[in-house]
Amino acid sequence: MSALNITDTLQRPLRDLRISVTDRCNFRCTYCMPKEIFGDDYAFMPKSELLSFEEITRLAKLFVAFGVKKIRLTGGEPLLRRDLPDLIRMLTAIDGLEDIGLTTNGLLLKQYGNALYEAGLRRLNVSLDSLSKETFGKMNGRGLGPERILENIDYAKSIGFQVKVNMVVQKGVNDHEVVPMAAYFKERGITLRFIEFMDVGTDNGWSFKQVVTKKEILGLLQETEELEPAEARYFGEVAGRYRYKNADAEIGFITSVSESFCSSCTRARVSSEGKFYTCLFATEGFDLRSILRSGASDGELARAVREVWERRSDRYSDERTEQTAKSRKKIGMSYIGG
Ligand code: SAM
Ligand code: SF4
Ligand code: SF4
Repeated sequence: MSALNITDTLQRPLRDLRISVTDRCNFRCTYCMPKEIFGDDYAFMPKSELLSFEEITRLAKLFVAFGVKKIRLTGGEPLLRRDLPDLIRMLTAIDGLEDIGLTTNGLLLKQYGNALYEAGLRRLNVSLDSLSKETFGKMNGRGLGPERILENIDYAKSIGFQVKVNMVVQKGVNDHEVVPMAAYFKERGITLRFIEFMDVGTDNGWSFKQVVTKKEILGLLQETEELEPAEARYFGEVAGRYRYKNADAEIGFITSVSESFCSSCTRARVSSEGKFYTCLFATEGFDLRSILRSGASDGELARAVREVWERRSDRYSDERTEQTAKSRKKIGMSYIGG
């Protein structure tokens, strides 16, 4: 099937789609869903508000027809969405879709990993911020140590998944864990990606001072390791990759703060209740669910998606200042899924 390629006002094509399948999470990471805000009485979305798997698949097909090649499922915690393997099965059947990935905190991988693999999922990004029980427990807001996540990463590898690990690095919180984390995953040949702490949402008390930049992280690692840059594999690849010279392993950097990559950003996002966002730092989304539920034809739905993408001019990270980071009202990370 050949796609109809569309571009935005900065000539960026549409290539990736991130779909959030739930706004709920079993963690309360301090940088994402601080428990002081996401407490016991927090009103998450009722099930009726969430897009059904049929609605998600209908949208996914349409995005693929506009050039999307990769879909990533995220959340909140996507493994909390019931029957997720059914969705994987429906998405893997889409003609023209080349790749499906899932980002998870890994806690429930033992329960659902096998069913997800059998449904056709092959790629997992597991988030883990520290090997230290104390630091990880504080960061996930649940006092949970890293052992179960580490076991589940090994389990996922053993059943055949390609696994990458994501570590958000926050100054004074877990930057002392950069070197041990790198050593641990190097030994296992698992790619570790360092994510600069971002000013997503309005709840995580972000400031530039808490960001540990790629340059700083690389500096820490290069005290003991020899690393060489690896070529980008495709236009719009988000992670800057480096290879160890003496091992078959890589690290990556998501440098949203220190080296923005807006000029090659080909990514669309759909929230769990069907809002379409053209930037991670957006304020408003376009309501696709009401079109979906109004009995609109595929043609009408396609027109809406196309119009939103063709109007897109976002380049938030290129323009970020401490002032815009603090004053702009942005959607939350747990809501849109990163
Ligand atoms: N719950 C899943 C997980 O944690 O992997 C999926 C959703 S989570 C919002 C997606 C990714 O966003 C995770 O890797 C998480 O660490 C990252 N993230 C959340 N808040 C962030 C922030 N303020 N800055 C940078 N990365 C963040
Ligand atoms: Fe949950 Fe993921 Fe956000 Fe942590 S980063 S609170 S695991 S959604
Ligand atoms: Fe894309 Fe927005 Fe991030 Fe820039 S700030 S890379 S436009 S999501």
